[in-house]
Amino acid sequence: MPAVTVEDTTTLARVPLPAPRTVRRRTRSVTTAPSGFEGEGFPVRRAFAGVDLRALDPFLHMDQMGEVEYAPGEPKGTSWHPHRGFETVTYLLDGTFEHADSHGGGGTISDGDTQWMTAGGGVLHIERPPEHLVVSGGLFHGLQLWVNLPRAQKWVEPRYQDLRAESSVLLASPDAGAFLRVIAGDVAGHTGPGATYTPMAMVHATVSPGATLDLPWRPDFNALVYVLSGAGSVGIDGAPVRTGQLAVLGPGDTVTVRGAVHQESRTPALDVVVLGGRPINEPIAMYGPFVMNTRQEVADAFTDFSAGRLGSIPAQRVEGPVPHAGVRGETGQTPA
Ligand code: MN
Repeated sequence: MPAVTVEDTTTLARVPLPAPRTVRRRTRSVTTAPSGFEGEGFPVRRAFAGVDLRALDPFLHMDQMGEVEYAPGEPKGTSWHPHRGFETVTYLLDGTFEHADSHGGGGTISDGDTQWMTAGGGVLHIERPPEHLVVSGGLFHGLQLWVNLPRAQKWVEPRYQDLRAESSVLLASPDAGAFLRVIAGDVAGHTGPGATYTPMAMVHATVSPGATLDLPWRPDFNALVYVLSGAGSVGIDGAPVRTGQLAVLGPGDTVTVRGAVHQESRTPALDVVVLGGRPINEPIAMYGPFVMNTRQEVADAFTDFSAGRLGSIPAQRVEGPVPHAGVRGETGQTPA
């Protein structure tokens, strides 16, 4: 798992030790992500499956894509599909992914890069491995997170942010036993590169075997810990977690993550993504590629898509599969 790594974490800025009266958050639930296949067939874990949307708010959906070692000719992506009413955040740990959208956004991300697409009022996009990787095969591992937009911002103009791996803010725990990459939001006064409409934070942490991370976390944010790989425990109550599990934490100032002393040899440390945001507290009407406040607004989105009002595929991009009404969760796999 390359993402961004450093030779010596002791050279990094440290997050402070928790203050004496710090409230360490407790674990509310631990769920195991079911595995499935996305789009044209890449393997995913549905990180938020079985968790109430109110506990996730402002987050909606997250897929861990891979980790998978593709044979030549095997890598898969999506076809052109629409979105409206939220943001998609793709964080790539291993491999390379290309993105293009109908609003002129797009680029190539690889090892540790993030692309942050605000669908806003509507956009079409495509996400897939570059042709040379389809031919060669190779390692692929990433995350795609869906972040909701509040009613007042569902109609903003689409936006594309290309966040390079080296722009992540790198920090360490006080004893340097945990290594943090701040992708968005603020951790102890250190602000990551991602610009967000909904106040939130996203951190990828690598916790060494036996180490404890007490991550300062805004008390007005919720707190989710998803295990990319490895084993350990979460919360002041020390709930055990392992690869593919999501812990939802209760209120407090600090997110506690411990790396188990014994890790499997293929996953030498505990890697987690910590997410938190200010809940939007609005009704959610979510179907397929659209996330609105009412069912009528979702029906309108399908109508607008059929009428071509969510944009059109750029002429030079018309190759590959024909556009259709959304790959992701089209059959109701996303939480409804
Ligand atoms: Mn998409």
